[in-house]
Amino acid sequence: MKKAIIIGGGISGLSCARYLAESGYKVIVLEKEAVLGGLARSFSINGRWLPITYRHVLAPDKVTRAYINKLGFLNQLRWIKSNQVFWYENRSYLLSLPQHILRFNPIDLRSKIKLLNFGFYVWLKKNWDDLKGIDCDEWLTRMVGENTKEILFQNLMDIKFNMPLSSISAAWLGKRLHQSCRNINRYGYLKPGWQGLLEKLGERGIGERGVRIVNNFEVTRITSDCVIEGIGENGIRDCLSADIIISTVPPPIFNEIVDLPDKHTLLVQNISYQSVIIFVCGSRKKTSSYYWSVVLKPHLIFGGFFNITELALEINSEEYIYYFYTYIDWEKGIFQYDDERIKDIYLADIKKLFPDFSITWHRVFKIKFSQPVFNRDYNNPPIELTDKLFLAGVYRQYPRPRTMDAAFYSGLETAKHIVDKYGKG
Ligand SMILES: Cc1cc2nc3c(=O)[nH]c(=O)nc-3n(C[C@H](O)[C@H](O)[C@H](O)COP(=O)(O)OP(=O)(O)OC[C@H]3O[C@@H](n4cnc5c(N)ncnc54)[C@H](O)[C@@H]3O)c2cc1C
Repeated sequence: MKKAIIIGGGISGLSCARYLAESGYKVIVLEKEAVLGGLARSFSINGRWLPITYRHVLAPDKVTRAYINKLGFLNQLRWIKSNQVFWYENRSYLLSLPQHILRFNPIDLRSKIKLLNFGFYVWLKKNWDDLKGIDCDEWLTRMVGENTKEILFQNLMDIKFNMPLSSISAAWLGKRLHQSCRNINRYGYLKPGWQGLLEKLGERGIGERGVRIVNNFEVTRITSDCVIEGIGENGIRDCLSADIIISTVPPPIFNEIVDLPDKHTLLVQNISYQSVIIFVCGSRKKTSSYYWSVVLKPHLIFGGFFNITELALEINSEEYIYYFYTYIDWEKGIFQYDDERIKDIYLADIKKLFPDFSITWHRVFKIKFSQPVFNRDYNNPPIELTDKLFLAGVYRQYPRPRTMDAAFYSGLETAKHIVDKYGKG
C-alpha cells in the first residue's frame, strides 16, 4: 500500500489525487483554504457560486473539456461567441478579424498590413520551441514594427506583467496568441459555476482507498525523509508522513517550506510570480455587449474587465456581473489597502469610462501568486526533485499559458510519472 500526500487542493493537486487514487494509492490532499479549487475556487453571493476570478474554458482546452465530460458536467457547459474589445483613448476597437485590423486607426496602413501578416503567421505556427530564449521586444519589432509593438503589445504586457517586452519570452507570447486565434472567440462556462466540478474532482471514495481531503491545513515544513508539518484547524500543529509527496504550491511558497539540500531545490528557486487584484461587482449598468474588454489607454487602475453575465446568468437577468482585473507587484501600495479603499479606487476609474456606473455589491480578491512570469530564460522545474518528492503545477508547463488546462494536464502528468515509477498502489 502506497501513501501519497499532495500539498494544495487546486486543479493540479486534485487531478493528481484522483489519478493516484484510481491507481490504488492512498491519497491525502492538504489544502490551506476552507474551499477546494485554489485559484479556480468560488465564493457564494446571493445564493449562487461565482469564481473568485474571471473563468472560462477555451475551445483548444482539450484536457479541461475531457474532465468536464468525465465528471458528468458536459450538459452544463454553455458556450458564447464574443469578440475581445480594446479600448484606446476612449474609443473601443475589435481586433479579431482582418477587417477589424484595417479599422484599427491608432496605427498606420503599413503597420496594419504587417499586423495582418503577423496574425496569419501566429494562426498557422504550431510549435513555438524555436523562440525559447528570444524576447518579445526583439521578436515583435521584427514582426509588427515599433509603433504596433508599443501601442498594442507593450500596453498589453504592462497590463499583464507590468514588465518590459524585453523580459518576456516570445515562445510564451506566441503560443498564447496562437491559442487565442484558434479559439475563434468562443468562451465556455459551467452554468451552475465551477465549484461543483472541483468538488467532484476531489470527491472522496475514488478508487479502493479513496482521497482524503483536509481543508484549513497549512503545510509549514517538508523534510527530506518525507515528513510534513503543518497547522490545521483551530491552530493545532500536526505532523504526517507518506511514501510520496507531491507539491502543487507556487515555487516561492515551496522554497519557504521545503527542507532539502540546495542541489535538489536549485531549479525551483528563480521563479518569480505576478500578483493580481480582482474587483468583482454586480451592477444594473450594461457597459458593453462584449465579454472581454482590455483598456490599453488611458492607463487606469484596471487593465481590463469581463462582463460574465451572458455566460453565468440567465439571459434576462437585470444584473450584470463584472470582473475588473489589475496585475500588479504585490509590494505596490494598493495591494496592502483594505477592501473599501480599493473599491473606491476602482469605482473612480470605472466612472472615467462609464460616468453613471454604480454597483449593487462587490468583493475584492488579492492573489499574491497569480501566475509565474515566463521570462525569456525560463526553464521548467523537473517533475521529480528526489525519489519521494514530486512537483506539479502550471509553472512546470512553460510555454503553455497558465490555464486550468495546463493545471489539469500537469497534475495528471505527475501522477502518471509516479505510477510508471512505482507501479499501481
Ligand atoms: C486572475 C486569474 C484568472 C484566470 N482565469 C482563467 C480562465 O479564465 N481560464 C483558465 O483556464 N484558467 C484561468 N486561470 C488560471 C487557472 O486558474 C490556474 O492556472 C489554475 O487554477 C492553477 O491551478 P494549480 O492547482 O496549479 O495552482 P493553485 O490553484 O494555485 O493551487 C495551489 C493550491 O495550494 C494551496 N496552498 C498554497 N500554500 C499552501 C500550503 N502551505 N499548505 C497547503 N496548501 C497550500 C493553495 O491554497 C491552492 O489551493 C486564471 C488565473 C488567474 C490568477
